[in-house]
Amino acid sequence: MVITFPHMGKMYIPVKALFDELGVDIVIPPKISKKTLEIGLKSCPEMACLPLKVTIGNYVESIKRGADTIVLSGSCGPCRFGYYGVVQKEILRDLGYDVDIVILDPPKEGMKEFWERVKKISGNSSFYKGLRAINKAFKVCEETEKLLQLVLKKRCREVHKGDTDRIFNRFEEKIRRVKGAQEILDCIYETKKQLENIAVDNNKRPIKVGLVGEIYTIIEPYVNLDIEKRLGDMGVEVHREMSVDGWVKFHLAPDIKFRRRQKRILDEAKDYLGLCIGGHAWETVAHTLNYCREGMDGIIQILPFGCMPEIVAESILPTIAKEENIPIMTLVVDELTGEAGYQTRLEAFVDLLHLERSRKENESGKVLSWN
Ligand code: SF4
Repeated sequence: MVITFPHMGKMYIPVKALFDELGVDIVIPPKISKKTLEIGLKSCPEMACLPLKVTIGNYVESIKRGADTIVLSGSCGPCRFGYYGVVQKEILRDLGYDVDIVILDPPKEGMKEFWERVKKISGNSSFYKGLRAINKAFKVCEETEKLLQLVLKKRCREVHKGDTDRIFNRFEEKIRRVKGAQEILDCIYETKKQLENIAVDNNKRPIKVGLVGEIYTIIEPYVNLDIEKRLGDMGVEVHREMSVDGWVKFHLAPDIKFRRRQKRILDEAKDYLGLCIGGHAWETVAHTLNYCREGMDGIIQILPFGCMPEIVAESILPTIAKEENIPIMTLVVDELTGEAGYQTRLEAFVDLLHLERSRKENESGKVLSWN
């Protein structure tokens, strides 16, 4: 058995840790590229969601490198995500690939079914070895997210342009070569130290932007045209609540503090949207409201073209923008998204946020931002 999985940002790091610990062979899909997208476009129905097309590209590239089992997570919920597993299996079969697909749903319908599936992909590991591996992977997931958050803080403040990305790119090259959770953690801690030592401008008061939207689009840089880097290079501090670590803490690992906070944020949005309508629309609305309370200068929603839950969320955001007096921009991405137009929209939005901040500061006579 050789396992593969879809790319979603840096999710491959904890997944690699998990399978390294279990002693199971994996193929990490090559970094998403134009070729990956082209495979997906050729193989999927035109109106399929963009994440489905890109992940099909991941699978085909991995199968060609020897993978025979695909693991994907959480094929549930009222939107099209609920059919991903079966649809992708059919598409791969039509393409002539006979692979196993193991879907790891959050264990809502009982732990038994969840453990059966975990057992299937854990080689001959004992229950305790499996549990230890999962715990270590959770730790790697948490530390990876902390590192990504540090990148967001440093990039917009760095004195020498490119320092943050240079260190992070070196980290990504190294992480594929190391083996096991401990070596991965060592690599993360070493990179953290390097990032903490880069020269930053502590007097800078960066514009703060909260990212909301469909989870895959927010987290996967190829699909969102590396929005975090683009904004960071403009001196903007990006806040991103949505993460793989957050998903794990909410659905898989019993992190009570984290769950309590998320539930409070969701509850506070109930006047706008008070239930799950698929995807992460509820989170989009709730995080938008929370970012307003946290004093962001602006909010950007990103969604793949045709994403039903996010279209509902999009229709609610103008009301929040008006009531909270905050600029909100929506970006829809698909395979035809042009880089130049995208960059222009981001630059114009950031200019608007600078103007808005100056206006508010002039009116109130106070400095409105913090470092
Ligand atoms: S959340 Fe949106 S993009 Fe994701 S599967 Fe559902 S409809 Fe498609």
